[in-house]
Order: sequence, then C-alpha cells, then structure tokens
Amino acid sequence: MAKCPFCDVEGRSGLVLKETPTVLVLANLFPAVDGHLLVVPRGHFGSLAELPPDIASEMFKEAVEAACTLERMGHPAGINIFLNVGRIAGQSLEHLHLHVVPRNEDDGLENFKRKDPSRERVPESTVALLKIAFS
Ligand SMILES: [Zn+2]
Repeated sequence: MAKCPFCDVEGRSGLVLKETPTVLVLANLFPAVDGHLLVVPRGHFGSLAELPPDIASEMFKEAVEAACTLERMGHPAGINIFLNVGRIAGQSLEHLHLHVVPRNEDDGLENFKRKDPSRERVPESTVALLKIAFS
C-alpha cells in the first residue's frame, strides 16, 4: 500500500516552509499557480468528522498567516483559501489539507460558477431546512 505523502514528512522535507507541533505549511509539489501553498495537519485525518476542532483552528490560523506572507511577497490581486472534501469536491489525497492560492487576472484558474444563472436567490425551503439542522 502506498504511503500517504503527507504522513511521509521525510519525503516532503524540501517543501516544508513552516512547522508547528500540529501543522506543516508546504509548497505544493504540483501547484495550480506559482505560490500555491498547502496547510497540512501532522495527523492523518480523512474526513471533517475526524478532524479535531483545535487542529482545524490551527490550520486556518496558519493559512491566514501564509496568505499574508504571499501578499507581502508578491502582492497578488486576490487569494483563495479552501479545503476539498470528497472526490467530487476535488479531494485528491485522503489526508485533509487546506489550499492557499494567490490569484491574479488571467491566471488560468476559474472561480465557482453557477450553471443556472436564473436561480440567484436561495430558496426559502433551503433556509428553513438549514435552520432546523443548525438548531
Ligand atoms: Zn496522511
């Protein structure tokens, strides 16, 4: 069975930009654009339900700091911070991780786009279901 590349810190040591006791900040080996970083928990968590809240907080804190560093370095026009959960959402490795991606005009990346532009407002029924779920 192949070793998880994010658990194999030895194999990634050349890409490590910052280490904390729980999180690594890595240069992405396969960046979408120059400056694409990853924030990876040291523990192997394959789902959000497995991810401890304190580690999720640490990941986001490090992602914000990484984004600020990218802003100081290259003054990108924008930055995306995101986490993909599930193959349909773009999760390519089981080990959950945050992406920090500097964005510029004509960088070749696309933002989320609605397929049906006529449906712009959230339906009241959806809001009602969400309120029940969050209550
Ligand atoms: Zn792993």
